[in-house]
Amino acid sequence: MTTYRSVKGMNDLFGAQAAGLIEVEHVVRRLALAYGAQEVRTPILEHQELFIRSVGEGTDIVGKEMYAFEDRDGSHLVLRPEATASVARMVVQHDLLRADPKLRTFYAGPMFRRERPQKGRYRQFHQIGLECFGESSPVADIECIALADAILKALGLEDVVIELGNVGGPDTRPAYLELLRGYLAKREDELPDGARQTAQRNPLRLLDSKDPHVQELLHEAPLPMDHLNDHHRSHHEAVYEGLVALGIDVQVNKRMVRGLDYYRGPIFEALTTKLGAQAAVLAGGRYDGLLEMVGGPDVAAVGFAGGTERLLLVAQAHGRELGRVSPDLGVVAAPGADVHQILRLVVALRDAGCTVIADLSGRSVKAQMKAVNRKGCRYALVLGETELESNTASLRRMADGTIVNISLDLAKVRSAVMEDE
Ligand code: ATP
Ligand code: MG
Repeated sequence: MTTYRSVKGMNDLFGAQAAGLIEVEHVVRRLALAYGAQEVRTPILEHQELFIRSVGEGTDIVGKEMYAFEDRDGSHLVLRPEATASVARMVVQHDLLRADPKLRTFYAGPMFRRERPQKGRYRQFHQIGLECFGESSPVADIECIALADAILKALGLEDVVIELGNVGGPDTRPAYLELLRGYLAKREDELPDGARQTAQRNPLRLLDSKDPHVQELLHEAPLPMDHLNDHHRSHHEAVYEGLVALGIDVQVNKRMVRGLDYYRGPIFEALTTKLGAQAAVLAGGRYDGLLEMVGGPDVAAVGFAGGTERLLLVAQAHGRELGRVSPDLGVVAAPGADVHQILRLVVALRDAGCTVIADLSGRSVKAQMKAVNRKGCRYALVLGETELESNTASLRRMADGTIVNISLDLAKVRSAVMEDE
């Protein structure tokens, strides 16, 4: 018999992991809605050209990591490696800023990158993200980072540090890149082969190289943040001061760059020490001009994307049990009890919002109690003929074995099992 396995780096999600990812998304959804964003979903397949134009041809994502294929009609399609370009395309395609010139959107969904799989790095992974359009004020950057910070706090990611950098814009970058290229040209012979290619293709990327030798060589390189113009400098200061005013800790990192070409102005990253080389749990920044790149108007924009799996892994490393659902109640039916009467109560409790498991297939009380334990039910209720006749039963709190007698009245049972929720 042939057996089948999932594609390398693409995970089946079930049990605690599926529930954990959904809970991370749930936390993000609740907070993003509170920030005035509306949820959007874009297709998983896009035209390849979209990412070449926006993320940039010289980036790892577009140059090395995209799953691309030719469709039957000859069009070049890709599995989306990220969603910012897709959301920008959607906004332009449907002229969404006409109805709401300050549109805020968020999304959650799978992304695809052909990388070497390891803990926290997969070929199909999930991202949650925020994209705000039409807001050029530093307040939008501040709110964006404040939402990211709120998500990190809600998930209990205490070790995570937010770093703030600035890559300038088209008005400062050419002059800066010339300085950087000049610096690199003097050290070209000393650069390792790979780094020399990067220096040609995308010199900015060398600034955050992980190679200690390259780091050493670039130790005194000119940094984008030291070569901003007045506009970028005052915007950046306003962002920083706003974050201080909100009591949000950020560390300025002058060497920070991002692996996508569309960023300009402030950029930020949330970093953990818990996942080895997979340090970034969330990253974003300002990307005014992206809409124009994909055929739309010249509109300001700022946003971020977080790795859902990484957020979950780091939350778990902090001892958070995200997504663990323990049923409120396990109902155990003693032999001879009226199954229909028990079912009526069970269904009514479920309708009233309780999570109830009940095995009414006629197994022994012992086997049913085992299942109640295994599923981690908070309460157990054993119902036999006597209980159903007298309309009272003993409710056991599983954590400490305490037993209370309650009347089998829907409201009574419901409040007894939900009170310490
Ligand atoms: P890295 O430096 O780790 O490769 P990145 O800069 O490529 O990250 P972004 O494109 O900024 O990542 O994506 C935003 C977030 O998505 C990252 O901070 C990370 O949490 C997550 N992420 C990126 N690539 C992967 C992947 N292959 N598997 C799981 N999560 C990922
Ligand atoms: Mg990457």
